[in-house]
Amino acid sequence: MSIDDAELMNCPARITLDAAQQAFLDSLPAPAPAVRSELGCELERGHEGSHAALAQQVEETMWWAQWTLSASEINPYTWCPVRQARQEVEPDCSLFDGHPGRHSSEERYWLSGDAA
Ligand SMILES: [Zn+2]
Ligand SMILES: [Zn+2]
Repeated sequence: MSIDDAELMNCPARITLDAAQQAFLDSLPAPAPAVRSELGCELERGHEGSHAALAQQVEETMWWAQWTLSASEINPYTWCPVRQARQEVEPDCSLFDGHPGRHSSEERYWLSGDAA
């Protein structure tokens, strides 16, 4: 899949984290240094609810920046528990537990229970 195709499927919303949010992320005991200050929504284009981008990961906890037109916040989540049926050929969902829209991996979006 080309980068152009991926961009067509992805929500185009972006956020620039403010200084307090960046300071919070920098304070986490993460193995890898944070963090881009600008993040792109990782949900499916046209999704419901807040936009969301993975900002940092600390062990089992993922910290997601979530935002709307009027507000933004950083919340802890665990991984989406849904696994694709054809795990030998498709990676697991890379979003957070309870995310809106279809499941996502680096390669594609899919619906839970897809027979494919
Ligand atoms: Zn979005
Ligand atoms: Zn999912």
